[in-house]
Amino acid sequence: MRARAFDVPTDRPEADGTLSWTTTTVVVVQVSAEGTVGTGWTYASTACVPLVEGVLATALDGIGWTDVGAAHEAMVRACRNLGRPGLVGCAISAVDVALWDLKARLLDLPLVALLGRCEHRVPVYGSGGFTTYDDEATTRQLERFAGEWGCRAVKLKIAESWGTEEERDLARVALARQVVGDDVAVMVDANGGYHRKQAIRLGRQLVAAHAVSWFEEPVSSQDLDGLRLVRDTVECEVAAGEYLFDERDATSMLRSGAVDVLQVDATRCGGYTSWLRAAATAAAFGLEVSAHCAPSLHAHVAGAVPNLRHVEYFWDHHRADALLFEGALTPSAGSLVPDVDAPGHGMALREADAAPLRAA
Ligand SMILES: [Mg+2]
Repeated sequence: MRARAFDVPTDRPEADGTLSWTTTTVVVVQVSAEGTVGTGWTYASTACVPLVEGVLATALDGIGWTDVGAAHEAMVRACRNLGRPGLVGCAISAVDVALWDLKARLLDLPLVALLGRCEHRVPVYGSGGFTTYDDEATTRQLERFAGEWGCRAVKLKIAESWGTEEERDLARVALARQVVGDDVAVMVDANGGYHRKQAIRLGRQLVAAHAVSWFEEPVSSQDLDGLRLVRDTVECEVAAGEYLFDERDATSMLRSGAVDVLQVDATRCGGYTSWLRAAATAAAFGLEVSAHCAPSLHAHVAGAVPNLRHVEYFWDHHRADALLFEGALTPSAGSLVPDVDAPGHGMALREADAAPLRAA
């Protein structure tokens, strides 16, 4: 098992309500057996590399390539004293994805067929709309999402500077509605940047004035009571879940009634193994799941659950994946179609193009 990290610069400075960045770090894991390579990755930190090549590689000793469930459990157990959330969850996720890809390739099956396909096409929404963008950049990106890619929904970041720029938040959402028209859903993501009462007040305005239909992390996703309060008070859907690092965290979020749609990220929650478990738990609560970011990585697993809402087609990952991976997917008619002519998830590292971006 081998891990390497690559830094992909953003095309311009980016920020949401509570964080700013200029680089996306992608940690790529390759697992080999019988002359075949499986590939997985996570968008995290170079600090995942020694975790993968150390404790996780050791945990997999003696486990065969068919036994992904046993491998997953061995990794989780080996990290007991390190703590599962955060970087450990990201590292486990990248390995788990690589193991599923390897197994599907060795069985010569597309991953969605190995998992059990529910849908041929996976709907996506266009996601970007960073608070650092001027109106021209926002307009151009939204036109690509709704026009060229045919997305039926777009999402932009609000709660700029920890919720202190309300007028600009409202003006940017007004612009988004004007650009995409009335037939495309407008979604917003506050990344936990508002206080409870502020989120309720802003949420009501966004619904009434701009028909916003999705309010993501209106308050911190650690504030489950606050999420439920907003969910029960504001008419649009409330979503969260991108920081679930374990399927048990998904159960807690669902049980608390915090969300209308559960977001789950296979590059953080524990790979495809945990993503499928979280999706099944959401189904047991009568709810749909939406895959958070990593669109190409999610395409096959998203096509294998009956309660999928959509996959987030995130601008940074669109750029990074196209640079780093042969076979990365671009939407058409608002959907991704998992490649069923190739085994595994159909993607492999572009070694020559990735080499200059090597970070660790
Ligand atoms: Mg988000």
